[in-house]
Amino acid sequence: MVEGILLILSGPSGVGKGTVCRYLLEIREALKLSISTTTRPPRPGEEEGKEYFFTTLPRFKEMIKDDSFLEWAVVHDHYYGTRREAVREMLASGQDLILEIDIQGAGQVRAKVPEAVSIFLAPPSMKCLEERITGRGTEDPDRISRRLDTARREMEAYSLYDYLVINDTVERAADLIDSIIDAEKSRISRGACPPGWGGETT
Ligand code: ADP
Ligand code: 5GP
Repeated sequence: MVEGILLILSGPSGVGKGTVCRYLLEIREALKLSISTTTRPPRPGEEEGKEYFFTTLPRFKEMIKDDSFLEWAVVHDHYYGTRREAVREMLASGQDLILEIDIQGAGQVRAKVPEAVSIFLAPPSMKCLEERITGRGTEDPDRISRRLDTARREMEAYSLYDYLVINDTVERAADLIDSIIDAEKSRISRGACPPGWGGETT
């Protein structure tokens, strides 16, 4: 069995990671999203186990102690983490998996999983990024200004990634990521081989 590909989709706060990821999952049904664990309270409409596994801070800290996370980070005052065992099981079963995570977490996964494919989602311009952060309407003014400061700093990390994708339109960004996955799955070093030669490429 050829292992699944681990994709990291990251980028500055508000660039559109969640939006592009949702669209990508629609156009590439075989791809699964890793469901993170967080101490952030659910937003209206969010369901346990769908967007996140919601938990308490003490429980999250226990999970850190038990080394349950492949990566974790504090993002805007809340803890977020990716469960190591869930990722391992899915990849081992041949499932391609995408982590939609912040810049800090992406660095941890790159260091621990060198074969992971990392994609930096960037805005068409800084002005555009500011408009998206301000326009999302889920935060108060103080949180918006902190998000903007963080986002400007986070842009500097782009050169550490494998691929740069500009989120000009959601469709174009998702299509490009879809093509990147196709290209990565065609790598012979990842086990791609002609039909009947002992493996599968898709
Ligand atoms: P992130 O997950 O990176 O924090 P979101 O997916 O929540 O970002 O997107 C932030 C805001 O930008 C949302 O209001 C979203 O609708 C908007 N947005 C995302 N991608 C685009 C795009 N390509 N063009 C215009 N607006 C976008
Ligand atoms: P939100 O609370 O708006 O859903 O997400 C806030 C930020 O947390 C986003 O930038 C998102 O990418 C990031 N995030 C979500 N899950 C994880 C995770 O498991 N690990 C890390 N490091 N960041 C995460």
